[in-house]
Amino acid sequence: MRFVQIVVLAGGTGGARFLRGVRAAAPEAEITAVVNTGDDVTLHGLRICPDLDTVVYTLGGGIDEERGWGRAGESWTVKEELAAYGADPAWFGLGDRDLATHLIRTRMLDAGYPLSAVTAALADRWQPGVTVLPMSDQRVETHVVVTDPEDGRQRAIHFQEWWVRHRAALDPAAFVQIGVEAARPAPGVAEALAAADAVLFAPSNPVVSIGTVLGVPGLRDALLASPARIAGVSPIIGGTVVRGMADRCLPVLGIEVSAEGVGRHYGARSDGGLLDAWLVAEDDAAEVPGVDVRRLPLLMSSPEATTALARAALDACARG
Ligand code: GDP
Ligand code: CA
Repeated sequence: MRFVQIVVLAGGTGGARFLRGVRAAAPEAEITAVVNTGDDVTLHGLRICPDLDTVVYTLGGGIDEERGWGRAGESWTVKEELAAYGADPAWFGLGDRDLATHLIRTRMLDAGYPLSAVTAALADRWQPGVTVLPMSDQRVETHVVVTDPEDGRQRAIHFQEWWVRHRAALDPAAFVQIGVEAARPAPGVAEALAAADAVLFAPSNPVVSIGTVLGVPGLRDALLASPARIAGVSPIIGGTVVRGMADRCLPVLGIEVSAEGVGRHYGARSDGGLLDAWLVAEDDAAEVPGVDVRRLPLLMSSPEATTALARAALDACARG
């Protein structure tokens, strides 16, 4: 089956790599990426959208492939200068090249442009070959409730502080999406879903990437109203995360760290959940009632492997 309109829900690194595979697997299709913005943060007065930037840089050939985030050929002069002033926070990696993106974004947002328009303007340079949409134009920021090691009190810190500064070492008690009540899907999201003939969940973090996207009021309903079948790819292989710290996030929601656990968490569309199909690694036993579970290699270890994975995910959306 040939797909014409594909929608992919995505976070940062896992989402971006998978999207590269989808683009290669369906070069003629119109692909729309709906990207998590819960990681967004304002630092040094600049608005930073890590997952959007990872997706656009990756698809546009500007990513540092080894790190998986930020610009290739990056230098860190401004970061060093900020540190010399003792300017907080010093723990966030702001590269010189990357800073240009944040400067433009911040200026456009301050001028009143919505994030979706800013993202389109930035993508104009990178030509990612897919339409990159933020999940929402409204600000939604993921915070993590942790126990402060200094005074033993619970407090909520920004997701980036938990993830980057503390390397997820502080036990999370809860993830809170601040601002989500007032959020709506960004322009184009519902339209893309209504016109889609395949909807894919990238192997992104089910809690703080896909979970955040799904938390935007109206988005879940738009997904379920889509005429397309919905296929998800497990970010968990053999009971462990490939990259990142989803294993620190899943237990907070009572989700088992396994392909089956995540599949059951998303649930069968026929049973009030979201999935028609669920792709798991060859050695993973996963039974998700009501869902077409398919076993195949899940590692995005090369462009070829990633394209094959994307093709299999699209196949799982084919009808009849
Ligand atoms: P982040 O925003 O940068 O954290 O990126 P995502 O949320 O998009 O992706 C992180 C998830 O991608 C992690 O949970 C990983 O387990 C998953 N992941 C990374 N590489 C691979 C891979 O090669 N195959 C699969 N199936 N999952 C992967
Ligand atoms: Ca992210």
